[in-house]
Amino acid sequence: MSAQRTVLTTPVGIVGGGPAGLMLAHLLGRAGIDSIVVEKRDKNTIYNTHRAGILEADTVRMLTETGVEGRVLTEGHEHEGTVLRLQGESHRIDFQKHVGQSVWLYPQNEVFWDLASARERDGGDIRWSVTDTEVLDLKTGTPKIRFTDATGEDFEVRCEVLIGADGSQGICKWSIPQEERTDNFIQYPFAWFGILADAPPSAPELIYSNSDHGFALISQRSDTVQRMYFQCDPDENVNDWDDERIWDELQRRVDGPDGFTLKRGTIFEKTVLKFRSYVCEPLRYGSLFLVGDAGHTVPPTGAKGLNLAFCDVRVLAPALINFFRMGDNTGLAGYSAMALERVWKAQNFSYWVTNLMHTQPGENPFNQKRRRGEFKAVTGSGRGAAYFAESYTGWPSTSSQHRQDMSTGEPAAAVR
Ligand SMILES: Cc1cc2nc3c(=O)[nH]c(=O)nc-3n(C[C@H](O)[C@H](O)[C@H](O)COP(=O)(O)OP(=O)(O)OC[C@H]3O[C@@H](n4cnc5c(N)ncnc54)[C@H](O)[C@@H]3O)c2cc1C
Repeated sequence: MSAQRTVLTTPVGIVGGGPAGLMLAHLLGRAGIDSIVVEKRDKNTIYNTHRAGILEADTVRMLTETGVEGRVLTEGHEHEGTVLRLQGESHRIDFQKHVGQSVWLYPQNEVFWDLASARERDGGDIRWSVTDTEVLDLKTGTPKIRFTDATGEDFEVRCEVLIGADGSQGICKWSIPQEERTDNFIQYPFAWFGILADAPPSAPELIYSNSDHGFALISQRSDTVQRMYFQCDPDENVNDWDDERIWDELQRRVDGPDGFTLKRGTIFEKTVLKFRSYVCEPLRYGSLFLVGDAGHTVPPTGAKGLNLAFCDVRVLAPALINFFRMGDNTGLAGYSAMALERVWKAQNFSYWVTNLMHTQPGENPFNQKRRRGEFKAVTGSGRGAAYFAESYTGWPSTSSQHRQDMSTGEPAAAVR
């Protein structure tokens, strides 16, 4: 640590420059509210980390209608449905037919790049590659972030509101005293073995497949790069798997009488992703507000994590704008309860679809047959398919949510 700490002041200090932190900084910037974002990784490292791929329609609108970037519409792929496959038999859920919505396949690293570029274009203050982040004085009206920047200089950010957007491995939620928060947590007895491969797409839409051999997800990234996963043991070692063994395992989980065959290619990334569900309650402590994975995580099966992070931002941005423009505290007071309403719906969907599509280790015949009955109740019924379609593409805002512009995150009354 250097001898002197440089003090910076800003209305909003944000820990974490992932999608949640950057989108919030962007919307505040549009409303004329400054912020400082403090991020421990550098831009290229974040850009090269592959994560989410499916964006709900409201997430896409937030990117395109708030002046972030329109690339999602030109480089992303609209998916009007998805395929649920059981024992080699495919059943397509038509999102447009059931709920009139689509999702977009557009990788999270491109979302991140678009947001980081927009912040740079708009003169936003982001400190990349910081170390030793600390948050202090959270119960006061002047919370602080301390950090050391990439050159070794020490800083203290004094703000009025501090945002914990530091993801599931961050520090902010752990700064809430244990007696002031409830950690709702479950762990699943399986994980995903994920690959990225140089190969053409095997299918035009995602395929969620379950067979006697377990679960597989056939997903895409682009015309030349594909993302696929298969259910594995949480302690699986990726080094035990060569390309041929991985492709054979994926293939046997989608094999069926229709002869569907995966298009193979060179695998250039292999990871094991453990499955957890977590919700911190409440999402506020004094001047600290948690958004995105910092406050809650879901297993990736329902493709909800990034979308939920943007949902939090859609609730928090107008609340902050009202607070800073008019001194109106109401939105901030209601933030946690309102954001959690959607979080728990998404938790339920993610938990449900995870258990529907995965084979439990040592699953007994009764449960396996019951699960297959459940699968057919979804795919064989218009109402069952509509429930899946609505949950997957994202629920419309409910009447109990504050009125706000769903795409811009601005409080409707404040801008019109
Ligand atoms: C394999 C995989 C597939 C997924 N698929 C989907 C999908 O299809 N759809 C979907 O919606 N979601 C999906 N998700 C979830 C999605 O990636 C996350 O929900 C999303 O990244 C949350 O964004 P965030 O900004 O809240 O957190 P993050 O993206 O985790 O960003 C938090 C940032 O905070 C930084 N940080 C942490 N600690 C500190 C500190 N002490 N100081 C400074 N900075 C710090 C981190 O470096 C990070 O950049 C998937 C996740 C995985 C892993």
